[in-house]
Formats: sequence, C-alpha cells, structure tokens
Amino acid sequence: MLIVMDSAASAEDIRRVVESVRGLGLQAHPIPGAQRTAIGITGNRGAVDAGAFENLPGVAEVIPVSAPYKLVSREAKRENTVVSVGGVPVGGERLAVVAGPCAIESEAQALEIGRQVRAAGATLYRGGAFKPRTSPYSFQGLGREGLEILGRVRAETGLPVVTEVLDTETVDLVAEYADCLQVGARNMQNFSLLRRLGRLRKPVLLKRGMSATIEELLLSAEYLLAEGNYDVILCERGVRTFVDHTRNTLDLSAIPYVKRISHLPIVVDPSHGTGKRDKVLPLSRAAIAVGADGLLIEVHHQPEAALSDGPQAILPEMLRQLMDETRRLAPVIGRTI
Ligand code: PEP
Ligand code: MN
Repeated sequence: MLIVMDSAASAEDIRRVVESVRGLGLQAHPIPGAQRTAIGITGNRGAVDAGAFENLPGVAEVIPVSAPYKLVSREAKRENTVVSVGGVPVGGERLAVVAGPCAIESEAQALEIGRQVRAAGATLYRGGAFKPRTSPYSFQGLGREGLEILGRVRAETGLPVVTEVLDTETVDLVAEYADCLQVGARNMQNFSLLRRLGRLRKPVLLKRGMSATIEELLLSAEYLLAEGNYDVILCERGVRTFVDHTRNTLDLSAIPYVKRISHLPIVVDPSHGTGKRDKVLPLSRAAIAVGADGLLIEVHHQPEAALSDGPQAILPEMLRQLMDETRRLAPVIGRTI
C-alpha cells in the first residue's frame, strides 16, 4: 500500500502518518518526490485497512500497490531517481559512461586505462578487485591491493569508482574504497548481501542475473530500498539463451519496460551482454537509443594480455569513437553527455 501525501503536507503531517503506520507494527518508507511525498508500507501479510490513514491531515490518497515490488515502482515515485555516484549523477538528463578494465591487474594497467578512459570522456571508472570467476583456478582479482589501486586511480583521474562486492564479509572493506558497489549477475539473488548493502549509505549497481526476469531484478532492488538504500542503479547485462553467436543475449527491450514501471535508473553493459569486442559499439548505440541512462564498458589497452574478459574489452581508441557517437546520438533523444 502507498499513502500519497498532499503537495502542501507538512513535515509534521508526514511524521504523524509514519507514526500511525509503525503503530500497526508495519514499516513506513517515506519517498520524497518533486511534487509530493509518498509513504510506502511494508511488513503487512494481508491487506492494510486504508481507513486507518485516509483521514489523517495531509493525506491525498491511499492506493493499493498491485505489483509485488513497491518502493521501486513508479506508483511509489513518479519522477526518475537520480543517483549521485561520488558527485556524478546517474539517471538524469546526462548519460553516464562507466568504463575501465574487467579486473584491476596492476597499478600500471589500472592507471594507464584510467588515463585513457578519462581522456575519452568517461564519467566513472570501473574495475574489479574481487572477481566472480566460473573456475576456481582463474584469476580471482587482487583483493585489498586492487582496492588500494582503485583509490589511486580515483586520485589521479578524478573519476569516482565502481567495483564489485562478492560477499557480506567484504562489504565494509569494499565500501571504504568504492563510490558505488556493484552486485554481479551471479549475486543478484544473494539476499543476505542485498540486505547488508541496503543498510549501507553508498550507491549500489545491481546487475540482472543470468536468467532473471525483470520482476526478479526489481524484487532484488526492492531488498535494497526496503532496508533504506534508495541509491540503486539497475544494469541490463544480457541473459542466457540458446544462441551461440554472442556470450549472452542483450535484452534491450528491458530498458523501456523498466523505465515504465520503475523510477530507478538503468544502464546497459554491452561488454558482458555480447562478449565480443566488435559488438560493443553497435549495441551501445542501440542502448542509448532505447533510453538507457548510461553504459558500462570494459576497456583494456592490451586485451590479448588481459587476465579476464579480454575478448570483449574494447581498445581505448574504440572508446573514443563510442563517446563521439554517443555525443552525437544523445541530443536526438533529449539527453546530453
Ligand atoms: C563484471 O562486471 O566484470 C562482471 C563480472 O559482470 P557480470 O556480473 O554481469 O557477469
Ligand atoms: Mn568482466
């Protein structure tokens, strides 16, 4: 259920509604919007009696939420959410481009790529210190040392950093260095990790699971919001299908669908979505055209020597071309870069 407050409702009106929700043993989640505040109610097993709130001062309407997700829905908040990642807005008019290597391999590698993506015009840097690898014998990332390197990349380039957190044990450590914590496809339904990140006051980039529906993606995001973290960026990174011409099938129809039903920003990762360097630029153009709020792109200056995901890493000059194309495409759909 959602309690929509009048645009003229006072802070005291909102507090009174929150108190009465709590008085019923339920949780209240005030969601401030540009025009009015909505208060989401969770914790109820059956229907909540609207009559308990309808006549409180400042209440405009009480509406049942039909979708299984509540706080992430457009019913809860009409305006787009804009998440600030270290001061860089994601979800507003300006497109975000998160670029960098799959994994932090060394200080020299991370800095070289950092300088190049910065020069190309990327707005955020990415790089994994803890890597989720299919084989236990593959490079697992540099761990803490990788995070320290990320700190140096940020200091030198000025770009806020996005990096993956694999488990609850390392949340505090990763949060010390990251401006935004990435939850990978394999962890989209790691509910204890989501709950823990929901209590953190740092943005989270939540990737769609390998075979997750959009409803499942939104319910995973709901875990974060239900714990109080509203700074969530969704990411479409492709799903498993029967095809073998690409690593995954990038589901671009997910973008307009999510935009209609949720206020959260969503970015597209054509690197994991295709697994092929030569497909990254065409799918980036398409992602921008369908309304993505940004792109997540793997870049490597020596992809043949990369310790993970070399075949999908684009070269720095390709990122420059991608940025140039995006700059020209953006105004067509009312965006900037
Ligand atoms: C990554 O971003 O490097 C990564 C491992 O992504 P995903 O979780 O989408 O496979
Ligand atoms: Mn990768």
